[in-house]
Order: sequence, then structure tokens, then C-alpha cells
Amino acid sequence: MPPAEEVRKRSTSDYIFGKVLGEGSFSTVYLAKDIHTNKEHAIKVVEKAHVIREKKTEAIMREKEVLRILGNACPYFVRLYWTFQDSDRLYFVLSYAKNGDVLSQIDKHTHLSIECTRYYLAELILGLEYLHSKNIIHRDLKPENLLFDENWHILITDFGSAKIVSSENGHEERNNIRSENKYPYRRRNSFVGTAQFVSPEMLAETASSFASDLWALGCIAYQMAYGQMPFTGGSEYIIFQKILKLDYTFSEDFPRGVKDLVEQLLVLEPNNRLGARDERCYSSLRQHSFFSVLNWDDLGPPPKISEDTVEDMVHEIPDDLEPGLDPEQVSRLHLSLLTPNPVVNRKKSPPNRKITDLTDTEIQQRLEAQKTNIYHSFVEDNLILKQGFIDKKKGLFSRKRMFLLTLGPHLYYVDPVTMTLKGEIPWSSDIKAEAKNFKTFFIYTPNRKYYLEDPEGYALEWCKAIEDLKNYYFSDET
Ligand code: ATP
Repeated sequence: MPPAEEVRKRSTSDYIFGKVLGEGSFSTVYLAKDIHTNKEHAIKVVEKAHVIREKKTEAIMREKEVLRILGNACPYFVRLYWTFQDSDRLYFVLSYAKNGDVLSQIDKHTHLSIECTRYYLAELILGLEYLHSKNIIHRDLKPENLLFDENWHILITDFGSAKIVSSENGHEERNNIRSENKYPYRRRNSFVGTAQFVSPEMLAETASSFASDLWALGCIAYQMAYGQMPFTGGSEYIIFQKILKLDYTFSEDFPRGVKDLVEQLLVLEPNNRLGARDERCYSSLRQHSFFSVLNWDDLGPPPKISEDTVEDMVHEIPDDLEPGLDPEQVSRLHLSLLTPNPVVNRKKSPPNRKITDLTDTEIQQRLEAQKTNIYHSFVEDNLILKQGFIDKKKGLFSRKRMFLLTLGPHLYYVDPVTMTLKGEIPWSSDIKAEAKNFKTFFIYTPNRKYYLEDPEGYALEWCKAIEDLKNYYFSDET
């Protein structure tokens, strides 16, 4: 399908917006239904002012350009259907990844089965063959950026860090690492991508190549099969040192077939990574013994990740809503974030359905489902409304904690390494949450100010959830 502009301008009034699927540093992604086709989409809404303030215009435009180049020829990518804008925002109408991302499945099942690891690595390799044939390096491949479509096939996403190599240089890039000064947008002492998956050449002041994605493929193979990342550490500095020294290990029980593949991908010299010297498709990857049981011309249906995958994520778009995304709609959709697995505004329910509107039965049902959450034992049987890793700062030190905002209200925090409850931020009507930026936020209690940092950039969402809960419990007192 051609881009929107070439057919007819679209706008928010062509869609019914159902819920917030997630938030990035510069965007909010909504589930929406096209009123003309009834097809569900994920619509990424980007605030222009925020993007300009944070100097991310280039990244957003690059993402759009990459998605445009990819088109719909290869099934393993999120597809861009339309783009449009209004005075304040840009809108990207994307394919809806109904089944979440690979990371959530790894976390849920501690790791993927060998069959799933093989199958999804194969889909990823086919995707990379196409991506690289289009002279695009992804540069931020990680399980979080591998989404699942409704049929449990992979959709590679997040091209904000991607690099488009000019076609005359394509071959050179495929086989050579080129010097930094040819890549003006990459700053010294910084890197694009994510610490644990970044390749040594991207750290060592040289530029990325197609083989940088092969390094990430090795990291992903390790994590899919084993559940953990190969390079971890208490700080980015430690992680980088480990990457540069190729300092990682395999446990005794690490699956042997994947181990060999990982060892051939996690190679410091980019040209020596398996596949890096291949001319067209990644034949040496395809021929690796781990994949010997696959038919690369037809991978067949995906193996089941688990018996219960089907019930995982059911999000409805109510059909009693008006199309469009006016401020009232936005606040309604954001309030729905308060529920842990929100199916917002079921038909006939009031427009501002939120946690206060949940019936006791619904709370009980959610509590029952929560029992499979490994942090359930810390919250004294209270319903978790929001959870996530937060760096809790004290003096010079920063500790990673799992924060759990629950009914009660409570805000517990747990050491995720020792799995012990470390404490609770005391609630009262005087509690106040304030975001400094997308990562840093403060919680004020009468006796203390907590310095918190959400590495994922959801500080605003945390503050909103805390303030909403405060209003729920204490609004009568003020
Ligand atoms: P950042 O901008 O900080 O790198 P991000 O790339 O995850 O973060 P977005 O692309 O805006 O930011 O996505 C935000 C969230 O929305 C994702 O984490 C995911 O949960 C959800 N999401 C994004 N795209 C889709 C999609 N096509 N289908 C379903 N959910 C999606």
C-alpha cells in the first residue's frame, strides 16, 4: 500500500483509539482501529515539541525512512501503513504486534525452548538478510525490539538507531569497519543502541557495520536459550569492559547447539563473525548445525511458546467510542494505564473507567492471575497496579530495585538479585511525585525525598500512577 500522503490524507478521526500499548522516550503507542477497514493498528504518536527539545528529529525521521524503505515485502518487520501529522504531533500507523515482545516471553518462561530459540532466530536471520540487502543496519537489536504478530511470527521494530548505508558503500560496509569520522552523527564516547547488546567495534571508537547486527544476534541467541544476557554488570562501564574483553561464560547446562552458534557470533573481529563474509544471504548461518533440521524455504508454523500463550493479551477496542484523539480521549486512555493488564472501556462502561471502577470480583480475578508474578509474595496480597525496575539513589550510590505500586496503597521495593523486600515508601495524603525528566523523578514524603531513576524512561508514567492513586485514596481529605 502506498504511503498515506499519496492516496488521501489521513487523520486521527480515521481511527478509534482503544488503549495505550506502551510508551517510549519520545512517543506514546496506542492500539487503534481503522474505521474504514476495521483493521487494528498500533499508532505511534510523537510530540513534535519534545522531539525538537531532545534533538531527536533525525532519529524519528530515520525511523520513518527505514520503515518506508522496508515496505511490506518482508513479513518480519513492523509495517508502516500511513503517516500523518497535526500541528503538535506526528502519527505513525503501524502493524499491531498483538502478542507482545520476545523479552516478555523470555522473562515469563525464564528462557525459550530450543525449538522456539531455533525458529525465532531463523526468522530473525531471514529478517536480517532482507534488512542488510536494503543497506540498513539496525544497531539496536534486542529481544525487546522483536515483537510478535497475531500468529506468533516475529516483527522487528525500533529503527530509531538504524543506519542507512549509501548503496555504493553497501558492499564496503558489509565487510569492513570504517573510521569514525565518516559517521558525523555518532558522537565520541557515546554509542547507539543498548549497553548489553552493543558490539565491541561500536564501543571502540570505530563505526558499525552489518556485522554489528550479527553480534547482537549472538547476544539474542544466548538470551533466548538461557534467559540471561551474556554481558551484564552493575554499570554500563563494567558491561563495556566485559564486551571489549569478550568476558562472558556459559554454564554447564547451556544448550550445546546454541553455544557453538553464539561462540561464532560473539567474535571481537567483526569480519570473523559467522555470516560476515557471506555475499548474498547468510548462507553460513543457515548452514550452521543448530539449524540443520530447518527448511529455510518454508519454516512452517511457529512452535508454541507455552500452553497458555493464547490467553496472554486480549485487548479490545470498544466500538461505542468516537474516532479521534482529542485531549479527553488522551486522558481517558492514560488513566487506563493504572490497571495492570487493562482491557479499557468495555462496551457500555463509563468513559472514565479506572482502578476505582473495578469491581471486587475483577480485583479478585486480577489477584488470582497475579499469583504467577514472582514479586507477588512481597506485596501482602495487594493488587499490583504498576511495577518496574527503578534505580534508587542514595548519596553516591544507586541500587536497582523492583518497585511495586499496589492497592492499599503501598509502594514496595525489592532487591531483584537477592529477592528480598528492602522497604516501602510510606504513603500518606502528603506523598508527592514529581518528574524531573523522562528518567529522573522524585517522591516526597513528609520525612524524606526519594531520588529515583527509571532507566526505561517511564518517570512521567510513575508520577502519574502515584498521583492518581493518591487522588483515589485521599482526595476527600484535601
Ligand atoms: P524508546 O523510544 O525509548 O527507544 P521504544 O522504542 O520502545 O522506546 P516506542 O517505539 O514508542 O518506543 O514503543 C513504546 C512501546 O509501545 C513499546 O515498548 C511497546 O510496548 C509498544 N509498541 C510499540 N510498537 C508496537 C506495535 N507495533 N505493536 C504493539 N505494541 C507496540
